[in-house]
Amino acid sequence: RAKDEGKNNYRIYDDTLNVDAEEKIYIKNSLRRALDNDEFDIYYQPQVEIKSREIIGLEALIRWNHPKRGPIPPSVFIPIAEECGLIEPIGEWVLRTVCKQSRAWQDAGADPIRVAVNLSARQFKQRGKLTEMIKTILAETGLDPAYLELEITENLAMQDENAETLQELRNLQITISIDDFGTHYSSLSYLKRLPIDKIKIDRSFVGGISKEPKDEAIIQAILLLASHLGLTIIAEGVETKDQLAFLQHNHCHDIQGYLYYPPQKADSIPRILSNHSPEYELAAEKG
Ligand code: C2E
Ligand code: MG
Ligand code: MG
Ligand code: MG
Repeated sequence: RAKDEGKNNYRIYDDTLNVDAEEKIYIKNSLRRALDNDEFDIYYQPQVEIKSREIIGLEALIRWNHPKRGPIPPSVFIPIAEECGLIEPIGEWVLRTVCKQSRAWQDAGADPIRVAVNLSARQFKQRGKLTEMIKTILAETGLDPAYLELEITENLAMQDENAETLQELRNLQITISIDDFGTHYSSLSYLKRLPIDKIKIDRSFVGGISKEPKDEAIIQAILLLASHLGLTIIAEGVETKDQLAFLQHNHCHDIQGYLYYPPQKADSIPRILSNHSPEYELAAEKG
């Protein structure tokens, strides 16, 4: 795409857009340089306990500001990074950046808070290596593992060969959560076999609240399942007061979504943590 290197090639990537083969190669090549060029950043989205409105955690979300194309969403570049073997160095950068940042907030006097990092299945592939890498980063940064959470998908949890690594991570006192729960092809039996702490209800179900009775039924079933299994549960993608009311009525504990906070720059987090008042944020958000 040499001719696209001019200045009018800023484009908006749509999550649902299928990136064509040529574009993929372009992204692949840019990804190789992105770490060295410092093009990645981490945003943090607060997770809120419904009852107390307190922030009980943060999810770290990677951002890529491409020098020519502008922001490219993770839904576009993460799958490509997974395909070409770049997710390992990127994933390691994310973990190190988050642990360092989390420790820095604590050192600056903030109340310690757990931060969740998304993991790709590929990061589990080299046996033992992931655990070693995380141990090294924890030692390096001095972060207490109790303040680290790892988000994995059902697919990853389902694979027997990942059980040992998950147990190792859990033994370190790291929290393990299942992301996008209910959207993958999987059996539920891993929930009894594996050391899972937390389930995240996918936002596709949350989006159906007040619109699609089947989505509501699925959410109610997931909430019951989690409560009987003693799992912590959080709903993702909560955007409206109606959704919040439904979740609260059905005894969901925690939520994450634009209603309270969109993902935030690291700089904003200490102020938000000391404020404890989502309403205050409502006006300032979406900027
Ligand atoms: P996810 O882990 O399920 O993250 C939640 C996504 O929902 C984020 O999208 C977040 O910005 C978005 N979101 C939060 N609240 C709302 C809401 O109220 N409404 C709507 N419509 N969306 C909301 P984002 O940041 O674009 O990330 C997309 C996916 O990319 C993530 O989904 C995760 O699977 C992956 N990802 C992000 N960062 C990383 C990373 O560091 N490593 C890996 N391996 N994957 C990552
Ligand atoms: Mg996630
Ligand atoms: Mg995910
Ligand atoms: Mg999710």
